[in-house]
Amino acid sequence: MSTLIKNGAIITAADTFQADILIEQGQIALLGQSLEVDGAEIVDASGKLVMPGGVDPHTHLELPFFRTVSSDDFYTGHRAAAFGGTTCHIDFANQRKGESLHEALAKWRQLAEGKAALDYATHVSITDLRPSVLDEIPSLLDEGVTSLKLFLSYKDMYMLPDGDILKVMAVAAELGMMVLVHAENGDVVDMLTRQFVAAGKLSPEYHALSHPAWSETEATLRAIALSSVADVPLYVVHITCAGAVDQVSYGRARGLPVMGETCPQYLFFTADDLRRPDGAKFICSPPVRTKADNAYLWEALADGRIQAVGTDHCPFLFDGTKPLMYDGEEYRSPGKESGGGDFSKTPNGMHGIEDRMLMLWTYGVGAGRFSANRFVALTATNPAKIFGLYPRKGTIAVGSDADLAIWNPEARKTVSAATHHTRADHNVYEGMALVGLPEKVFVRGELLVDGENWYGRRGNGRFLHRQPNAPVL
Ligand SMILES: [Zn+2]
Repeated sequence: MSTLIKNGAIITAADTFQADILIEQGQIALLGQSLEVDGAEIVDASGKLVMPGGVDPHTHLELPFFRTVSSDDFYTGHRAAAFGGTTCHIDFANQRKGESLHEALAKWRQLAEGKAALDYATHVSITDLRPSVLDEIPSLLDEGVTSLKLFLSYKDMYMLPDGDILKVMAVAAELGMMVLVHAENGDVVDMLTRQFVAAGKLSPEYHALSHPAWSETEATLRAIALSSVADVPLYVVHITCAGAVDQVSYGRARGLPVMGETCPQYLFFTADDLRRPDGAKFICSPPVRTKADNAYLWEALADGRIQAVGTDHCPFLFDGTKPLMYDGEEYRSPGKESGGGDFSKTPNGMHGIEDRMLMLWTYGVGAGRFSANRFVALTATNPAKIFGLYPRKGTIAVGSDADLAIWNPEARKTVSAATHHTRADHNVYEGMALVGLPEKVFVRGELLVDGENWYGRRGNGRFLHRQPNAPVL
């Protein structure tokens, strides 16, 4: 069966043009003016924008964390993503202490199997570097995994010492793999957290105070310096502050293959939000910072100092003592309340997989901060390129998967937990206005979202094998 999307304005990272799109066997078969195809199902996109579905390079579905698990699984998270115009994502298979990387990957794949409605891939996080773990890195390529995540923070949990980071980077460099880093200084965070807890300073704002911007700035430069020694491409995840942006710029200005990502929460919120009565909703790591940092990040997205927007999607219920009705079923899971008012015990994380493109469209493109083409680059094309999914994903071109979102630029909505699709009992953007929304979302040519209707199916999503030696943007 073929589908013909007619009369839409196509927006890619490079171009805006009027054309029809013919979809055959899940791929874009033809782009052209006034196409006529016998028997094709016609989708009229007059007055609408047709964009590549979003690629979210940073999510944590069903992540076990802080004695609970993030509240979106591979089905609910995919459903939420699709309603937000995102059609593909890259999650993290996190190695636990004592585990091999392949065990971590197999466990993670089991979680996704049978649930996924979107296509998906994974990075592998290394948290316990034994010689046997170093030896198994090359065989991850056979599993289609081309990127490794390392932590400079979460001491005694995920953090690796610099020597181990360098060892992994050297192996990754030889294999054409990309290294991702969580860049905060784990010793700084550990010491400050202990001090605040000992002093009885437990409220959410101390989460931000125990994760200062200088700790992120220092760790970002350290990671860049180590990556230059190992000569490996580096992707700094969830940049929150001006100092870290400047370190990425410093490296890039010296020709280093360094790229940076920020997330919507760092564009909209500040440590003041942690002082709200519901401040625990805003606890994420690294923390939300200042208005000046928000503004600096918006500018860095517009002028190219930052290359991608991910979400670090890792939602928890605000009040997990109450069941949440989701899609006709009761859902229960310990949430932010499980920290008992102690920031150091509160699950870190925020939702974003559904909100990312919606918020960036209205408050990025709509507010005149950057063009629609830049929006596509930041949310789809660049993540696909950086992580070896391009041109299969992340663009509109003949031969690409027909992962498309048809946006109505006039549609309006107010963000609300009452109407969102994320499995969470709150939305941090509650009450904010959206102008311009995806109306129809396709994955490999199949209609998943049509207005408020959901046609996605469990198990239809495919695991994506990626290629190493992806370009550095
Ligand atoms: Zn993350």
